Amino acid sequence: MSDRASSDGRPAVVWFRDDLRVADNPALDAAVRSGRPVVCVYLWDDVSPGLRPPGAAARWWLHHSLVALDAELRARGSRLLVRRGAAESELKALIAELDAAALFWNRRYGGAERAIDAAVKSAAREAGLDAGSFGANLLFEPWTIRTGAGTAFSVFSPFWRACLSAPAPRMPLPTPGGFPTAGLPDGLRIDDLGLLPTRPDWAGGLRDAWEPGERSAHTDLARFVRDDLARYRDDRDIPGVDATSRLSPRLRWGELSPHQVWHAASAAREHDPGVADSAAVFLSELGWREFAYHTLFAHPDAATVNIHRQYDAFPWPRLHPGALHAWQRGRTGIPLVDAGMRELSTTGTMHNRVRMVTASFLTKNLLIDWRLGEQWFWDTLVDADPASNPFNWQWVAGSGADAAPYFRVFNPELQRTKFDPHGDYVRRWVPEWDGLDYPEPVVDLAETRRAALAAYDTVRAST
Ligand code: FAD
Repeated sequence: MSDRASSDGRPAVVWFRDDLRVADNPALDAAVRSGRPVVCVYLWDDVSPGLRPPGAAARWWLHHSLVALDAELRARGSRLLVRRGAAESELKALIAELDAAALFWNRRYGGAERAIDAAVKSAAREAGLDAGSFGANLLFEPWTIRTGAGTAFSVFSPFWRACLSAPAPRMPLPTPGGFPTAGLPDGLRIDDLGLLPTRPDWAGGLRDAWEPGERSAHTDLARFVRDDLARYRDDRDIPGVDATSRLSPRLRWGELSPHQVWHAASAAREHDPGVADSAAVFLSELGWREFAYHTLFAHPDAATVNIHRQYDAFPWPRLHPGALHAWQRGRTGIPLVDAGMRELSTTGTMHNRVRMVTASFLTKNLLIDWRLGEQWFWDTLVDADPASNPFNWQWVAGSGADAAPYFRVFNPELQRTKFDPHGDYVRRWVPEWDGLDYPEPVVDLAETRRAALAAYDTVRAST
């Protein structure tokens, strides 16, 4: 790729996907540096086989994030061209319409996504285009971090040690000012994609909780580093305290790059040695995100297939009819579980500690297949992520990479007394908790724990 200004006037196309930002966007940067007119496109691909359509809460976020991206591009004299259809054929048509000379994008890591991107790249190169893909959404490209034997890591600690001894994540790229754009062919309005819920409009709680878009993402990052990073290590497990960054949907949709987050926290650490320990814990949480993508890269079907295949023998007896519905609605009679599930339905997020507790309760007390929980989270989380969601579900279920051992069953009542001792979190979401309207527990915790361990014996027996 060259920095020389091109004189033939043919445009460079930037294909936006999980990177809905103008700052630290290597594909956009390459297009601007090419000196060509720049065309920014988003394709809503609900046709290509194998792609997992975003769930309802994620679609809500995507709509607003696209609107915000369009506004950022307009402020630079450009705008977002929106199209719908199979990526390969749509891009081919667009390139022909524009007589484009270059096509750039930032990489994705799912199996179907990689297959599409590889096909697009070879078709574009065959057609004589300058086609380039960039690392933008991970700190460490999965294939660059390998064990001594050259394989993917399956345990977090050595993985993260290997990352920390690899070349440090690059500095964020400068934000482009205005750039030349080409005349745009017809496109859709963002509204035409139908991403927002209408009948009924259930998104009021999401609107109250979030402001999607790159600009507010930067505000949130700055506020977290300034106000909360120092206490992150001590308070991040307490769901009643807002001590975590809430940056996961920003990273999921690429409103922020992990490089921006990494360097903001690292700079705070250098500036104030008092936050060093807390910053290291926070950075290692970004490491779990990296590890989830590393795992997805090695196991593209992680959303549906046990990473440890011996778990295929697990019977998932589903002893309690109606329990899945009670779990989804936050009506299990277990206060911490119900609080988490209601927080999720209302706001599109749930505190990490409570995600672990609700997932453990589903898989180890209700004995319901982790895939059903994963699908519910997929539909209801604004940060639902093709790597982190399956990874964490499998981690809790015991079937995943570096998973918690199956027999470590969280007791949701002990978790509540430990992490929400005064009931601040539970009362916020389950105000009727102490009253007569609150349901009896759907299951007996001790009895179901025993049933879970007995079911687990079938896995042990099969290995
Ligand atoms: P912070 O504590 O501030 O952490 C900073 C960042 O580190 C997060 O924004 C996130 O990008 C990353 N991170 C932290 N913990 C994890 C983790 N365990 N795995 C991967 N990345 C992590 N996270 C998602 O981003 N998308 C999901 O779909 C998702 N599904 C989950 C499902 C289950 C069953 C569980 C137990 C966890 C899941 N997580 C998921 C991980 C974690 O709960 C969220 O990333 C976190 O709660 C987001 O809040 P935060 O941004 O305030 O996190």
